[in-house]
Amino acid sequence: MRWWHGYLALCAAVLALCRRDLAALPSITRLPTPEPHHFGYFAAYVLLLAVLSSLLPGKIQLGALLSDGRTQLRYRINGLLVAGVTTTLFGAAVLSGRLPGAAIADAVPELFVVGNIVSISLSVLLFIHGRATRRKQWLAPRSFIIDFVMGSALNPTLLGIDLKFFSYRPAMVGWLFINLSFACKQWDALGYVTSRMLVYQTLTAWYIWDYFVHEAKMVYTWDIIAEHFGLMLVWADYVFIPFFFSIQNFYLLEDTRPLTYPEAVVTLSAFVVGFAIFRGANSQKHQFKTNPSAQIWGKPPIAIGDRLLASGFWGVARHLNYTGDLLLAVSYCLPCGFRSPLAYSYFFYLLLLCLHREKRDDERCARKYKTDWDDYCLVVPYRMVPFLY
Ligand code: NDP
Repeated sequence: MRWWHGYLALCAAVLALCRRDLAALPSITRLPTPEPHHFGYFAAYVLLLAVLSSLLPGKIQLGALLSDGRTQLRYRINGLLVAGVTTTLFGAAVLSGRLPGAAIADAVPELFVVGNIVSISLSVLLFIHGRATRRKQWLAPRSFIIDFVMGSALNPTLLGIDLKFFSYRPAMVGWLFINLSFACKQWDALGYVTSRMLVYQTLTAWYIWDYFVHEAKMVYTWDIIAEHFGLMLVWADYVFIPFFFSIQNFYLLEDTRPLTYPEAVVTLSAFVVGFAIFRGANSQKHQFKTNPSAQIWGKPPIAIGDRLLASGFWGVARHLNYTGDLLLAVSYCLPCGFRSPLAYSYFFYLLLLCLHREKRDDERCARKYKTDWDDYCLVVPYRMVPFLY
């Protein structure tokens, strides 16, 4: 049996588990028709983030060495400031009564359709631009699927903005705004925010804030180093992250049961342990890449072939950062209780993504690091969970 047989079986099991919930979702023919102001709000939101990203100050972070062996892109790390200003403006608009707090939550179906139209249009433009660039460079065109879906350019820019790096900002801030708007909607309906909603809001806001605090480390992640910018990533940023990651809100909105103590303990434990592993592992790798002699857990780092870290979290399992992220994911779903498997869709998605990505990354690293990777796999035999996987 090949690894992807197990992967397909897991996908089928997740779909089977969620089938009743999925059948209850509105069919594609009944999707709402957005009005011009929905397009206007979406455009204004992305434009505001783009303008703030261009104008606000930020430290310059050099990216990973590109495949030509010479070029390193420069990224302005001002996401925290951009997100802070945008959130303050949103808060001020709500508190001053100019914008109803529940406006975004009420318009989620229409904004979801707008997000899809924007993603497909942007991907078409990126495809045309990428094909023209490849023609100019006398490079042979690749298949439509590769160029359109996976992307034809690694780092397309517009008016000096790196589109791939930038697009995480509308994604993460959009997720935050949808969450906050659902909390406002609940406040409007009940006159208070439930303990379940409060825990969900706090944990996800922490994750989003942490993303921007550590935005500089993004430049060494797989998406930035290896993935081209096409429909897959564009759709992930403008549709999937904001609209799918926030699905729990639909379950939390009308659930007035207070969070029980055991539920609170399990949820917070998953979050604390997951966060320590996720942030710890990603920070250790970033530190090792930027300062290879800096201590890890109070000791000099153990390196294989100078380039692979084999101590700290990276000595426990080869992708413990994915395991930490999965624990975080489960902590965002647990406040929904166990009424519906679809409330756990973020966890299922991340599980499938991490299992698949770990395989792809393993193959990539085996090609890149050759015998050093074999040695690393001998020293650190577990992929994601010690003694289990
Ligand atoms: P990693 O940050 O693990 O990056 C993998 C790369 O790190 C490898 O290709 C290799 O690149 C380098 N590397 C691997 N092992 C070592 C080692 N032992 N020592 C030094 N370098 C090593 O993966 P991702 O970029 O996929 O993910 C980053 C984070 O983002 C993860 O925590 C993940 O969970 C999270 N994430 C979350 C998603 C979500 O939807 N919530 C989606 C995707 C990711 P190199 O060539 O540079 O050496």
